[in-house]
Amino acid sequence: MSGFDDSDFIRLLEIVDRTEKERKSETAGNFPKSTFKDGYGDYAGDYDRVVSGLIFAGTEPDLIYGNVYIQDGIIQEIEELRESEMKSKNWIVPRFVNAHTHIGDTLLKDPPLGSEITPYAYRRDLDSLVRPPNGLKHRFLTELDADSAVCSMESAIWEMYQNGISVFADFREGGIDGAAALLEASKNAGRDIHPILFGRPTLTSPESSVSGSALTSSNSFLDEFRDLLEICDGIGVSGANDLDEYVLAKIAAKTQSKRKRLAIHAGEKDRSDIEPALSLDPDLLIHMTNAEKTDLEAVADAGIPIAVCVRSNLVTGVGLPPVLSMLDEGISVCVGTDNVMLNAPDMFEELHFLSKIYGITDAMLFKMATSNGADALGCRFTGSIEVGKKADMMVLNSKSLNLKHIKDPLAGFVRRARADDILGIV
Ligand SMILES: [Zn+2]
Repeated sequence: MSGFDDSDFIRLLEIVDRTEKERKSETAGNFPKSTFKDGYGDYAGDYDRVVSGLIFAGTEPDLIYGNVYIQDGIIQEIEELRESEMKSKNWIVPRFVNAHTHIGDTLLKDPPLGSEITPYAYRRDLDSLVRPPNGLKHRFLTELDADSAVCSMESAIWEMYQNGISVFADFREGGIDGAAALLEASKNAGRDIHPILFGRPTLTSPESSVSGSALTSSNSFLDEFRDLLEICDGIGVSGANDLDEYVLAKIAAKTQSKRKRLAIHAGEKDRSDIEPALSLDPDLLIHMTNAEKTDLEAVADAGIPIAVCVRSNLVTGVGLPPVLSMLDEGISVCVGTDNVMLNAPDMFEELHFLSKIYGITDAMLFKMATSNGADALGCRFTGSIEVGKKADMMVLNSKSLNLKHIKDPLAGFVRRARADDILGIV
């Protein structure tokens, strides 16, 4: 048996209440890092700002000492200097692109992970946690009031900013209201961090008595979908097995006709939803944890990027995605932290896990967490330090206790760096 009883649920609602009280006493959302500088860099010369140090330039990247000159938020010039000429040897690194999040469940950070099978162990159960409509997350979100939803997402956005993330792609539950709440949270956060919003229509499940054609031709569906496509960057589908096949095809066609992005979870628990997901011709696949070689060949043929969420897969016990096979097939792999209820939205941690589990090269991991994500989300203005791109950079303290003595900064960044090594965000 798995699942959560009412006492768990009541406990979670009590946590929401406590958090709301904290917010009112202004303890939530503060920026506790005293050494952290927002808008880092010196003001000099003909440009707005110059940042000096060891630059992780380009996508591969090339590590060069020098200055990055910025005007109106755009990188104007990268000046290479000799190491001996440098006063600062801090690392200048592109900020991360977090290719998959659900920040709507930020108030559910300590969920029960499953039913106890012994006094000291749980049986993990993905469906009980997150599957719509009755998974714990969805029951929780239904009960969550609008103010708490906005406030908690605002704190998650602050946290991601502080963790060196410049863009995050969120699967936002709750239809128009859910999407609008995220936009409000983003505005309230007031930080230079860009959401890519994948909205989700509030639709019936495959078991619904309403036929797919009746639903998709109803005014309520059409109105909601039109408004969603208006305010969102795309549509994020929970999975091909969660919706009626006809409804899914309609969603895909309407999304694509408006030139918006379609992203979908696939192959997370098993591979039964991979083929139907691919038939929708999505722009981005999430997870593909249980994909087999033939699935990956089809993905590679279709040129679809995959966002992997390894820590999430470990928490929910669904297995580990075949990341090396994805790379073997030439698939562009990017990285997401998935639900805040399962893991902190921390891309450093995600890199540590990927490196330790798979032995992927440092250069490839760097790319997966930065430019591959930017490409997958159509954010070509960011993801690498190059002339003409937005100056989405973080400056890491190469003399921190954690980073000092490192001889290979790329390896150090990928395998060891942490958010508390960040001196400032540019
Ligand atoms: Zn997800």
